[in-house]
Amino acid sequence: MTRINEHVHVLEVPLVAKTPVRVTLVTGADYAVLVDTGTKQMAPAILELIREAAGELQRVRLVINTHAHHDHIGANHQIKTACRSLLCAPVETIAWIEDFEVHYREFCLVAPEVLPDAPWMREEALSILDMESHVDLCPQEGDLIRLGSGVELHVLALPGHLKAELGFIETATNTLILGDALINNGITDLGPMFHGYQRAAAYKSTLRKLRSLAEEQRFASVVSAHLPLVDWEGFVELVDRAESFVSKIESDLLAIVEEKEDGTLKIVWEALCEKWGYREEFRGLAMVMTHLDLLVAANQVRRSEAGTYRIA
Ligand SMILES: [Zn+2]
Repeated sequence: MTRINEHVHVLEVPLVAKTPVRVTLVTGADYAVLVDTGTKQMAPAILELIREAAGELQRVRLVINTHAHHDHIGANHQIKTACRSLLCAPVETIAWIEDFEVHYREFCLVAPEVLPDAPWMREEALSILDMESHVDLCPQEGDLIRLGSGVELHVLALPGHLKAELGFIETATNTLILGDALINNGITDLGPMFHGYQRAAAYKSTLRKLRSLAEEQRFASVVSAHLPLVDWEGFVELVDRAESFVSKIESDLLAIVEEKEDGTLKIVWEALCEKWGYREEFRGLAMVMTHLDLLVAANQVRRSEAGTYRIA
């Protein structure tokens, strides 16, 4: 357990390669809130964190999933049951949390003609999830969660990495708590794959929003699920690096579309994976799809009726 400050505690376990996954416990005088539940294997350690930092398990009234990716909701059922808490998540993500077939389909089968259903994908997506759980509450931008003694979570909407994602500003300690709103390719080693984003336009807006938040407020600490724990300066640097990652993907895609004139989605995606030396898997494929959509909408790339791409 890492104590960020009097009210914010973090549990970190290794996930893949050199990258950890974290869950965050925020404690107030009246109750506590757990942000994300990591993987199903983390449940005993999370319960230990709660006992250590909050005392009684039932002090955790709310368990909030920042977003519905499998490494953020994995222990939902075990924690919700043990703490008898309400499970909260963005309204757009209910189906991923309550129905793992929908989760699998929308996370992994983004273009089945390019990357069809396969046992390795099912294993990768579903093996760290415990059980489907009922979502009780859906926080949204502007909501205020008041934990007592001035500890307050201001809810932020930070979509793009997935179609919906939440972040929080804890005001008493000036802490920003994020899930994956700052994706980490090129920052920490997540293994050879694109962590990526499923909604390119929304993700670009989210990065601008995080930058203007940093201009307004000098956060004492910024916690995110997979990135190093940072102060304000470190946060600004992470925003810079996340923005340059998106720009790099955009310029790489434009160069590939130009080079592979009339290339299909499969050809463009494979070329991008090859360029970065990354695995051909669903997260990268979803990122290429949404970014190509954005380039088509901006009239920089043209998509033919047959689904091939060329520079407009
Ligand atoms: Zn994620």
